[in-house]
Amino acid sequence: MRILIANDDGYLAPGLAALVKACEGLGEIDVVAPEQNASGTSNSLTLHRPLSAFTAANGFRYINGTPSDCVHVALTGLLPRRPDLVLSGINNGANMGDDTLYSGTVAAAMEGFLFGIPAIAFSQVEKGWAQVDAAARLARSLVEQVLANPPAPGAWLLNVNIPNRPDAIELPRRITRLGRRHASEPVICQQNPRGEPIYWIGPAGDAREAGEGTDFHATANGCVSITPLQVDLTDHARLPAWRQWSQAVGS
Ligand code: MN
Repeated sequence: MRILIANDDGYLAPGLAALVKACEGLGEIDVVAPEQNASGTSNSLTLHRPLSAFTAANGFRYINGTPSDCVHVALTGLLPRRPDLVLSGINNGANMGDDTLYSGTVAAAMEGFLFGIPAIAFSQVEKGWAQVDAAARLARSLVEQVLANPPAPGAWLLNVNIPNRPDAIELPRRITRLGRRHASEPVICQQNPRGEPIYWIGPAGDAREAGEGTDFHATANGCVSITPLQVDLTDHARLPAWRQWSQAVGS
């Protein structure tokens, strides 16, 4: 068993160290993580400059790029053998609902999934790393369970959000769907020292669809949320309507 572990908070992040430590003994572990915090970079790849790989004193490798770069480079050139599993995290803060589209944590796992490898993204619901070791123990127990009883043949992708609690490993685990968020808060406009306007992206909106069965609902009720993800963005429900529309307008 070979496991590749990445994240988006950077190779120095406590959540990465906790996940690696908790997974010791499950197999051969390689860590390839971004040099700097790359949260919110989604699935971006660095195409207009070369990337460099470095090795830290603790053996973690880091790349001056995005989370997707890290997994991409690891799988296509850096690692001598293909891993059997890709893990990402543990992220500093939740990745639920629409946030998953922006998440570098989810993107790192998704990059493994796109290469046909089962992958899991782990996030703690609250920022600040409180109870990160408990979250890492939960992560290990989940990894052990899916390795012992694979949920489906072939590759799959899970997005796991863990409440910051010391008893995380004992919390009920819910299979969930992504909720939805309201549109983000407006940008925050300030002036730079030269008097020019600068803009900070505002915070995410509140949960809009947080009903039973969603990731928001599960974590708000003290459960670990496990959402199976897919990559296909096709609006399958509206395909027939669009095909009818296309015929109607004569295209
Ligand atoms: Mn992050």
